Amino acid sequence: MTFDLDMIKKVYSDFETRVNEARAFMGRPLTYSEKILCAHLFPSQGKEAFKRGESYVDFAPDRVAMQDATAQMALLQFMQAGKKKVAVPSTVHADHLIQARVGAAKDLIEAENKNNEVYQFLQSVSNKYGIGFWKAGAGIIHQVVLENYAFPGGMMIGTDSHTVNAGGLGMVAIGVGGADAVDVMAGMAWELKFPKMIGVKLTGRLNGWTAPKDIILKVAGILTVKGGTGAIVEYFGEGANSLSCTGKGTICNMGAEIGATTSIFEYDQNMSKYLRSTDREDLADAADAIAYVLKADPEVHAEPEKYYDQVIEINLDTLEPYLNGPFTPDLATPISQMKEIAEKNGWPTKIEVGLIGSCTNSSYEDIARAASVAKQAKEKNLEVKAEYTITPGSEQVRFTVERDGFLKTFDEIGGKVFANACGPCIGQWAREGAEKQEKNTIVHSFNRNFSKRADGNPNTYAFVGSPELVTAMAIAGDLRFNPLTDKLKNKNGEEVMLDEPSGDDLPKLGFDVDDPGYIAPAEDGSNVEVIVSPTSDRLQLLEEFPAWDGLNITGARLLIKAYGKCTTDHISMAGPWLKYRGHLDNISNNMLIGAVNAFNMETNNVKNELDGQYKPVPDSARQYKAAGIPTIVVGDENYGEGSSREHAAMEPRHLGVRAVLVKSFARIHETNLKKQGMLGITFANKDDYDKIMEDDTINFLDLDQFAPGKQLTLEFVHADGTKDIIMANHTYNAGQIAWFKAGSALNLIKAMEKE
Ligand code: SF4
Repeated sequence: MTFDLDMIKKVYSDFETRVNEARAFMGRPLTYSEKILCAHLFPSQGKEAFKRGESYVDFAPDRVAMQDATAQMALLQFMQAGKKKVAVPSTVHADHLIQARVGAAKDLIEAENKNNEVYQFLQSVSNKYGIGFWKAGAGIIHQVVLENYAFPGGMMIGTDSHTVNAGGLGMVAIGVGGADAVDVMAGMAWELKFPKMIGVKLTGRLNGWTAPKDIILKVAGILTVKGGTGAIVEYFGEGANSLSCTGKGTICNMGAEIGATTSIFEYDQNMSKYLRSTDREDLADAADAIAYVLKADPEVHAEPEKYYDQVIEINLDTLEPYLNGPFTPDLATPISQMKEIAEKNGWPTKIEVGLIGSCTNSSYEDIARAASVAKQAKEKNLEVKAEYTITPGSEQVRFTVERDGFLKTFDEIGGKVFANACGPCIGQWAREGAEKQEKNTIVHSFNRNFSKRADGNPNTYAFVGSPELVTAMAIAGDLRFNPLTDKLKNKNGEEVMLDEPSGDDLPKLGFDVDDPGYIAPAEDGSNVEVIVSPTSDRLQLLEEFPAWDGLNITGARLLIKAYGKCTTDHISMAGPWLKYRGHLDNISNNMLIGAVNAFNMETNNVKNELDGQYKPVPDSARQYKAAGIPTIVVGDENYGEGSSREHAAMEPRHLGVRAVLVKSFARIHETNLKKQGMLGITFANKDDYDKIMEDDTINFLDLDQFAPGKQLTLEFVHADGTKDIIMANHTYNAGQIAWFKAGSALNLIKAMEKE
């Protein structure tokens, strides 16, 4: 599990030189994130004054992390690349597929039985290609990364939106789709639009009941769920330096809830302390030696308004604890106003369950402070009114907090410890009675609280708060309780107040663990067999997509003309389909089932020209494919917006779609189509969308001359024999045309590997 110190030392050895060079070509002082970005330019990337929010830049991240739900397709694709080993240090974490039901031990056994073949696959493929594997129960990806791999000044990508958690250790860490992870693991460039910069200046110091969580809950209230889109949020100021490293991680983690590309803190003493306490003294020494450069330039701090696109200032001295929700993490209510607002809105005030932990809030400090509140229940003879659960973020934390007596304290108030996994945070919570869909309130220290997220019940009102506040609220069992001012009646009828929480940020005796749950890959994996059962319905080895035959596509049929919004969720739904993320053929049965057919305004009901019948989109596509007839998909504006999931491009490719012609694309989806060897093209004249009829036959007239910057000509032959000639634009460069010709980017990598 050891981090790659040599790799990090290499990054540090020329970090300052690269920063100096970047300051020159950018022509101005740099923020901390800009220094890291510019120190990680891909070797072939030109150096110029990148424009924030405009320039597309190729980067070379230092490492990749994947969780078990997304790793399946990423690794199935990587296997296609023909590489012997990953090009950068990479890890897989088995955390999302464990259901929380009765408690850690039993739940883990059940998960291992249920997901055995997926775990076997992930472990064997990791072993073969030099990827570290963290088995089920080892912990949640982001906590494990913070404890073992994140490093100041580094850059990583991860196939999970909360990868951004590593910003707490001064790293630019960004959540991506599996196809991006494959690129980086294959040694290719990773492209990102140069982000905008939001500065958050923290003054003062947290005190009393306020916790790092309250900073991000406040920021979410200010910026809303979209406010950080396309931007890196950079925290600085004396208040930032006073926060523990794991507290910083909590704040960066929830940057995902404001849509930020990532969030980050500058390197400081608390990070150094955390590195040392997690057995990385050498790394701490190396980072300390260049600490002066692991922060924004002084001019940026002196005039933040000049160098950030937006600046927010928060005074920690006066910050109140917050509870955000229900149903959205940006609905921020200070605890002092909750009583009034909850009553006004008719939110159920009885708290049924308090849940602490998750990747967001399960540090030693979080557990210690929550335990300091929990122990008062016994000391002050209080009845704990709500159920209470704890989801540790890693085995290392769980083992250490058990050793230090905190789990015993939770046990004494009836707390239930779930496995070190995502569990209730991602709907993997078999909550008794949730199926009755009763209106109820829960409070938790996770990051997201969308409808149905925790227990599948749309009538569960979930509020997000710090672990210490969640613990106090669970004791009180009432959403209107304010521990700063209110008293509780104990079992003797006496009125008592809860004392302010307290706790160390790091264990005095150091961290301890028996089995951290890490499985190192083989030094030479060439003889390792990857286990995928041919009869599995959850996993399927990928076959190469066929190379282009060099001819014009002719006689194609329209699969669907999608009307209006068509996001990646419309193209490849999530929910119950998550189970098939590793099986391309099975998950293709959800292809475009959410898209609206422009001819009847219905979803999943399109005309098939072979038999004239209306049927589900995947069925129609399979029928055309079986008959050897190519198909095309037509779409509206911003087609493919939403997540970066590559299934939305792979499924059409698998079911015989050759081209996607739209008014405009969401950029990541357009790139994904290109990578999978599809034609992603746009109407030169958007009004031509209206000319396309349900029963058209489509011929490409000059695809055989496909070249950068050259429009493509398509002929639409209507049922009455009339024709429309439609011009299409594309953004393929020479390299991307080579992907198309090869059948996919992976085919090309594989071919190059063989040379
Ligand atoms: Fe995602 Fe929740 Fe798991 Fe964190 S604990 S990685 S937010 S599902």
